Amino acid sequence: MSDKIISVLGSTGSIGEQALDVARMHGYRINALTASKNTDIIENQAREFKPKMVAMADENAAKDLEIRLADTDIKVLSGVEGVSECAADNSDAIVLNSIVGMAGLVPTLRAVDAGCKIALANKETLVAGGRLVMGKAAEKGVDILPVDSEHSAIFQALLGMNDKKELKRIILTASGGPFFGKTRKDLENVTVAQALKHPNWSMGAKITIDSASMMNKGLELIEAVWLFDVLPKDVDIVVHRQSIVHSLIEFVDNSVIAQLGVPDMRIPIQYALTYPQRFESPVKQLRLEDWQTLTFDKPDYDTFECINICRRAIELGGLCTAAVNSANEMANELFREGKIGFLDIARIVADALENCVRVENYSLEDVLETDKWAREFVRNSIRR
Ligand code: NDP
Repeated sequence: MSDKIISVLGSTGSIGEQALDVARMHGYRINALTASKNTDIIENQAREFKPKMVAMADENAAKDLEIRLADTDIKVLSGVEGVSECAADNSDAIVLNSIVGMAGLVPTLRAVDAGCKIALANKETLVAGGRLVMGKAAEKGVDILPVDSEHSAIFQALLGMNDKKELKRIILTASGGPFFGKTRKDLENVTVAQALKHPNWSMGAKITIDSASMMNKGLELIEAVWLFDVLPKDVDIVVHRQSIVHSLIEFVDNSVIAQLGVPDMRIPIQYALTYPQRFESPVKQLRLEDWQTLTFDKPDYDTFECINICRRAIELGGLCTAAVNSANEMANELFREGKIGFLDIARIVADALENCVRVENYSLEDVLETDKWAREFVRNSIRR
């Protein structure tokens, strides 16, 4: 058994389950597990990993889990407070945050406040409250290690950098999702099932739709600005259909460094947990000879408007990115429920951005208020 202790927030999801795969392989101790409603999966995880505590964001699910785990000494907590308590319980634990959406923000802040190292998959945390999270992390001297494959690639490439002045730009790769090459006309009537068919990655529903609209790449642009302290104009995007080159950086001498690997999230998950060390992983080796062709294309910014909406939001700064994030969460959900069309997502989010409050310095309360405002704005805009 390793002496590494981790807490997995969002343990029942795609990233959470892969994080537990890594933990299983290396014998990590689990301090806490959290989810929202899925008591079947978390009960099994709790019985296998025997954490000190578990939390369900949903109150009824927490009651159900408490009954299910009554024969164990695992503490069961509930609500945002319970999830946050799990996040902040042990300052020796690495907190892997794989909650989906801005519900991850408060637990991240609580974990940083408690001095826990963070392995961050939950990009919405940085999109909604980047200033708060990075400010608190600097104050507490806490590392925020990226789990997103693109940001893990950049993080790894940057390890060879001598001086920040030598960095010219970051190049994020994007798979292009299921609708690469489609025109706006083609996208008018696409179905939820078509949008959920990602060519390379098997992920949760929200991020899969974000990948289809390329909102995911816009959110990642904002995430990169916060994680690597660069200007939005210094982050470029290139479509790379095979998802083998996970991202690149370019230095002032035009030398480019990339990180490659087969598309499997367990590599960046494991690296965030073991950094600066590396260990064997359960992931297949990359055999370049299996990939005769690696392609790189310019994104179609006119068809996939979400990238530029996010770029404009981070350039405007303040609460604009929080508004875009929450408007997208709501629009993404409404699309999955069949209540709006695919192209409505970008239209509604752009509208929310134009109408949101532009405040440079903000508090957590401001972000939570913006979240409420943006969701209501989206609901009202479909009623209209
Ligand atoms: P999933 O939808 O598969 O899992 C989400 C997890 O969050 C589940 O455990 C879910 O619990 C929990 N959850 C949902 N709502 C809440 C809430 N309100 N409060 C607390 N917990 C909640 O998502 P993914 O694993 O795909 O993605 C997680 C995060 O990682 C996202 O931010 C995504 O952008 C990012 N990411 C994902 C990648 C991937 O390959 N999947 C790649 C890179 C980044 P329950 O199951 O009970 O609903």
